[in-house]
Amino acid sequence: MQTRIIDGTGLARRVREEWRERAQALAGRGCRPGLAVVIVGDDPASRAYVRNKIRACAELGLHSEQVELPAEASEAELLARIAALNADPAIHGILVQLPLPKHIAAERVILAIAPEKDVDGFHPLNVGLLATGHPRFAPCTPAGVMLMLEREGIDPWAKHAVIVGASNIVGKPMALLLLSRGATVTLCNSKTRDLAAHTRAADILVAAVGRPKLVTGDMVKPGAVVIDVGINRLADGKLVGDVDTAAVMGVASHVTPVPGGVGPMTVTMLVVNTVLAAERACEAGRPKEPAT
Ligand code: NAP
Repeated sequence: MQTRIIDGTGLARRVREEWRERAQALAGRGCRPGLAVVIVGDDPASRAYVRNKIRACAELGLHSEQVELPAEASEAELLARIAALNADPAIHGILVQLPLPKHIAAERVILAIAPEKDVDGFHPLNVGLLATGHPRFAPCTPAGVMLMLEREGIDPWAKHAVIVGASNIVGKPMALLLLSRGATVTLCNSKTRDLAAHTRAADILVAAVGRPKLVTGDMVKPGAVVIDVGINRLADGKLVGDVDTAAVMGVASHVTPVPGGVGPMTVTMLVVNTVLAAERACEAGRPKEPAT
């Protein structure tokens, strides 16, 4: 079987181009979308992610602000900055880069973000809306995977989707999104017995664990779509996913590469969610047409 490598970089570029027009249309109506990215401390990986997000905003002509706090900043200081961003009409999306230093409770910080500005989709209200089938903001990584599947013509309807990894930011929302598109979903975690028996049953296999080569060739059903969400840096500095990509070539029908697969789609969905947030805020703030 010929395995198609899904070009996440190219797809992300096309999607950003489409959304640039929507962002420009909003700006023309006096509603330029704005994103605030809050970073606490100076973790190099977090800084690189934040740089990418700010760059993507610039590409689409969005307003962006980077709010930097030192690693020793208190939770109260961070909450005060979020309160100010919640009240700022130039800001439609707020993202707090995770992980946060240990002395700050991420749950309290996420809860403090106004749900209508929660472009990461992590606020419990947005999680609940997603779980009940009325998503307002779907978390960026699984939303990016769904768009990838759609653009590749892969319909999850009545397929068996197996997700390895059940985190709040990737695995669980991925399961909800696939379920909402008619897939039968199996969600695996570190306690799952005989992982390979589950993965071999997958028509769509999503790996989101953070362990290089966790998914080997013999764990994939011939013809399956394999989505590699993992990002792992090896000792030699090389970036790899969770899937042994070379081993699934010729077995899977599709596979996403790392880098250049899901990663660029994640950043793209963040700007998409920010434009959506601005569209809704702009619509809500527009004077209503007088009744005739
Ligand atoms: P996480 O919070 O550490 O969660 C990992 C999940 O994997 C947990 O549910 C854990 O199970 C499960 N797990 C661990 N070992 C396992 C095993 N041997 N078999 C089956 N499941 C196992 O990680 P995350 O934040 O979801 O991130 C996962 C990976 O995706 C990381 O490499 C991260 O860098 C990457 N990532 C990529 C993007 C992107 O844009 N491409 C975005 C976000 C994350 P338990 O629940 O039992 O602990």
